[in-house]
Amino acid sequence: MNRLLIAGNWKMNLGPTEAKKLAATLAKRWPSGSFTNQVVVSPPALSVAAVVQELAATDIDVSVQNVHTEDSGAYTGEISTPMVKDAGCRYAIIGHSERREYFGEDDVLVAQKTKKVIADGLTAILCVGEKLEQRKAGQQESVVKKQLDAVLDHLSEDDASHLVVAYEPVWAIGTGETASPQQAQEMHKFIRNVLKQSWSESAGSKVQILYGGSMKPANAEELLSQEDVDGGLIGGASLKADSFSELIEIAESLTTDG
Ligand code: PEP
Repeated sequence: MNRLLIAGNWKMNLGPTEAKKLAATLAKRWPSGSFTNQVVVSPPALSVAAVVQELAATDIDVSVQNVHTEDSGAYTGEISTPMVKDAGCRYAIIGHSERREYFGEDDVLVAQKTKKVIADGLTAILCVGEKLEQRKAGQQESVVKKQLDAVLDHLSEDDASHLVVAYEPVWAIGTGETASPQQAQEMHKFIRNVLKQSWSESAGSKVQILYGGSMKPANAEELLSQEDVDGGLIGGASLKADSFSELIEIAESLTTDG
């Protein structure tokens, strides 16, 4: 079993002052050595410095929510991977459905960004997932395979340890709707098989596959217990120290029991 990864996506919430407060509460609750799984938080770029500073004495890693494909230059409003590393982050979320939907990110751009993130030594949390009408039409697997293949074509098996895939059915993000544990497991197994077929059995096995879409303390145990669910990408429930800590606790109880 892979270690579980509990990743909080704060989206466009919590400026430096509020982000620092939440990070300070998490730092107090989760000092270094207090969990065996992996925990990541992803604040807005402007709050990253404050969060990195507050979490310095913990094992919680920090991520950004997006990067540009170039190192520097005339790209007003963008941030680059060298800046992200310099700021103390180890992860970057790439291809979140909100970026695909509202900022026109297509599979080609998502692939370029994922490649850049991994080439520069960060870990990419690559988001894939189908929309409601696609699930209703039974197209979920072909949609996710297309999104994955676009990226895998540009990576090699050696990149496996720097890739995390987050399966986020768009209909479950921020809606209160959750995929059933069976729906999640089915898709995670499918993703795992795509990875194994593209690379190898061992490379496909070691990629952590997270579930995202209204995960919260009430439904996390069942979702995280599924064989191919290696953690969660969590929006709403990551914005409060109590609910996020509960999710970390649930993950811990599963790995120590299992
Ligand atoms: C997300 O933003 O990736 C997410 C899964 O959000 P929520 O948990 O709020 O559905």
